[in-house]
Amino acid sequence: MLRPSPEPDAPVRRTRVLPASVALRSLAGALWLVVPLIALALLALAVFGPTDQRTFVTFLINVTIVVGLGAFAGNAGVLSFGHAGFVALGAYLGGILAMTPAQKALALPDLLGVLANAHLATPLALLVTALVVGAIALLPGVVVARMTPSAAVLGTFALLVIVNDVLTGARSITRGNQTFFGVPPLATIMTCLLVAIAAVVVARLYRDSAFGLRLRAAREDPLAASAAGIAVGRQRLIAWVLSAAICAAGGMLLGAYIGAFSPKTFYLTLTFQLLAMLLVGGWTTVSGAVVGAAVITLLTTFLGDLATGPGPLPEFLSLTEVGISVSILIVLYFRRDGLMGRLEVDEHVAAWRRRRAERGTAAPAAPAPGESPAPLVAPERPGASAELVVAGLAKSFDGLHVLRGVDVTVRSGEILGVIGPNGSGKTTLVNAITGVVRPEHGSIALAGRELAGSAPCDVTRAGVARTFQNIRLFATLTVRQNVQAAVSAHGGGTLTPAAADALLRVVALDDLAERESRSLPYGAQRRLEIARALATDPRLLLLDEPAAGLNDVESERLLRMLRTITAERGVGVLIIDHDLGLMMRLCHRIVVLDQGAVIADGSPDEIRSNPEVLRAYMGAKSAQALNERRAV
Ligand code: ADP
Ligand code: MG
Repeated sequence: MLRPSPEPDAPVRRTRVLPASVALRSLAGALWLVVPLIALALLALAVFGPTDQRTFVTFLINVTIVVGLGAFAGNAGVLSFGHAGFVALGAYLGGILAMTPAQKALALPDLLGVLANAHLATPLALLVTALVVGAIALLPGVVVARMTPSAAVLGTFALLVIVNDVLTGARSITRGNQTFFGVPPLATIMTCLLVAIAAVVVARLYRDSAFGLRLRAAREDPLAASAAGIAVGRQRLIAWVLSAAICAAGGMLLGAYIGAFSPKTFYLTLTFQLLAMLLVGGWTTVSGAVVGAAVITLLTTFLGDLATGPGPLPEFLSLTEVGISVSILIVLYFRRDGLMGRLEVDEHVAAWRRRRAERGTAAPAAPAPGESPAPLVAPERPGASAELVVAGLAKSFDGLHVLRGVDVTVRSGEILGVIGPNGSGKTTLVNAITGVVRPEHGSIALAGRELAGSAPCDVTRAGVARTFQNIRLFATLTVRQNVQAAVSAHGGGTLTPAAADALLRVVALDDLAERESRSLPYGAQRRLEIARALATDPRLLLLDEPAAGLNDVESERLLRMLRTITAERGVGVLIIDHDLGLMMRLCHRIVVLDQGAVIADGSPDEIRSNPEVLRAYMGAKSAQALNERRAV
């Protein structure tokens, strides 16, 4: 039933950000968007009249900006109301860099220094604008990245207001409320196409890179992400800066395209339109951003013509806003994740092919329950040195003492069981060790290194991985991505797809690597959580009730798996479980917690016959269960 773990001497392949195989797949995926964009551009150049060409240029600029917005909002799961601010900064800065000094002397006579004299070619101006606005975005980014997602949304709104006020106030640079003019007409179809393609490719590579994957994991579950070694704030900041830079490039094109603008041009109406495009298309994918830009651009043009045209309708100028709002409501009502859902175009195609292939072949045979190759032998007590030493750990919640000076040690290669009644503090012990809650007293040393007070991601990077009592997977990521999102304790690398599959083989999930993790059966979800923890290369694995909710066959399977993992990888395991029979057979040593204190610590046999344990904790029924298991 359990397959052997990957060849022990095969090097575990890790890469820092973007494995070549992933990059190639990403680029191939981006082609599904890039090719239609090029085809449309050729059509526009050859066939479209001036009006349709203008609509097409608007579309390309919208693509760039919305793809930029999505790089942060979609991957981080934080809608941003502030990105129109980056568009505005891009429009002003890019405009100033592209204007000739003579134009600037006319339109902006008070401009000083470098800005007055700079005159850059379009590509260079785009690049400098993106870099400078990206750098400016760092400051608000540090703040937004540290907020909870709901607070961050409000924070981005505040940013929009601030940028608008600054642009209105900086009259010598922006002409304040007056119209800014004089930007050369550089937003040609060709330029806008190239910038849109660059935005699509960069955003897609980012989404599929280790950075993007980690941010998407954090979007699904920030706590589980930090337990997988992910520094959530840092990942948000990376996306924020990248997305600000892309939006600024789009902003420069937008400014040049409309020619004359003021800070109001980039305020609430634009914010609303950008969010509409992102939400209608699907905010978690690059494809969604492109599709949304297409739909809303067409809708805006159509409704704009209808409102102002000589048709039967009375002049109804807000028809466009009403139409866009209704389209958002309709799309989100029927498709919560937008028209494209949560998959890129190529991922939809691959999923469709997979479904078709699966229909053609018989379902893979489930492993036969009785297929146990070797009987479980009594565990040997390892003689290795102590790996984790927890001493005097104390924690209280609102005056309730949940941990009262707990001492626990785990050796490498040892399976330590922690048992105790509900509410005795077992989960809090794991939470305190992994930095999820901060203990008031005590020390937590891993191979001599003090961990008390560290953030969860730092504890994981130090070599302690965990699972959760209530399963916390990255729900909409695939099985393989759940494992790949984890950060290695050794140097922070990410598993290559092949290495991730080898790890999935250890927990017998390699056949399901492409499945969305939330669609897995319960037992498989538990195993995937263990694989994700192993992907961090831990020295110590903390498992909080991994067999809860499993039937006997699955529990047995899990038990064998843990044996294999501990023996082959030499990791120490601290396991909490209520299945006393399983614990007695699995663990080298057992610690009994009662009301936040250790009341017994010894071998399963010692625990079985410890009168205090039997009396104080287990009660007659459990004692009977223990002795029944003894006969097994
Ligand atoms: P166990 O895992 O042994 O069942 P827990 O560690 O989950 O026990 O809980 C121990 C006690 O601490 C319980 O009374 C629980 O209500 C309380 N507790 C745990 N976490 C918190 C929290 N974050 N805030 C307040 N009380 C908590
Ligand atoms: Mg618990």
